[in-house]
Amino acid sequence: MGVDVGATKIAAGVISPEGRVLRRVRSPTARTPRELLSGIIRAVSEVGDGFEVKGACVAVPGLLLARESMIVHSPNLPAIEGIRLKSELEPEIKLPITVENDNSAAAWGEFRFGAGRGASHLVFVGLGTGIGGGIVLNDQLLRGAQGAAGELGHVTIHPTGPRCACGNHGCLEALASGSAVGRRARVVASEKPNSALGRLATERKVLGEDVTSFAREGDEASLSVLEESGRWLGIGLAGFVNVFNPEAIVVGGGAMGAGELMLAGARQEVRARALPPARDLVEVREATLGPDSGVLGAAALAKDSSGRYLL
Ligand SMILES: [Zn+2]
Repeated sequence: MGVDVGATKIAAGVISPEGRVLRRVRSPTARTPRELLSGIIRAVSEVGDGFEVKGACVAVPGLLLARESMIVHSPNLPAIEGIRLKSELEPEIKLPITVENDNSAAAWGEFRFGAGRGASHLVFVGLGTGIGGGIVLNDQLLRGAQGAAGELGHVTIHPTGPRCACGNHGCLEALASGSAVGRRARVVASEKPNSALGRLATERKVLGEDVTSFAREGDEASLSVLEESGRWLGIGLAGFVNVFNPEAIVVGGGAMGAGELMLAGARQEVRARALPPARDLVEVREATLGPDSGVLGAAALAKDSSGRYLL
């Protein structure tokens, strides 16, 4: 069983060994620690009813201390901070529980069942309001010394760049996330009041997804916003190529609606900046599992368990 605890909803699924979703449930995420825990317990018992479930992995947003199964910092879900999830959940759920960062679980999902199938070395970049990441090396998930590895969104790309949600300046997240696309589009809207973005800005706040819809209709200003955001993304990816020498970089997350409109620019930067032979091997691909990647990856981690971690 995989459980993906997001800032707005909890998704839980019973997954077959081949990666088929046998049943799934979704419920809204509660805001207090107690209600959050009972929400997870409810989702697990509801989805698992009638199945012979052997174990569950709970994927959660934020920085993980793996030994304590605890999130120490979660900007989007503060209610989960400081809870020892394994020891709180196991007695209630009565299943072996593992806990993983949500983007690491998504990386494992794409590695096992999605765009990363067949690769042994993979970097996953989750592009949403922020940017998260997960790294698979030698068929194992890289957790680092404490479990907090893979924070690819907070690599500094531009030291005097825009301020990031983490407090730093010029992180990849501040330059290439869905929020960064929206911010760039609002600048363009004020410079070009007669463009589609400019006209929308007189009605309401322009968001990242507006840029994607205008770009799909051929709007030049929106296309250039996505191209520029893709280039910043590619500057980050080029660094990951040099560090990890992956066979594939899989880009997923809610902001990947822009797809090739962002990835084309990203690939150009990877080709220009990463070093051979890694540059010539790597393929930058769009994720294929969509919002299911977290649940599928978590379920696979529950099954694959400790042998799959590169500590
Ligand atoms: Zn940051």
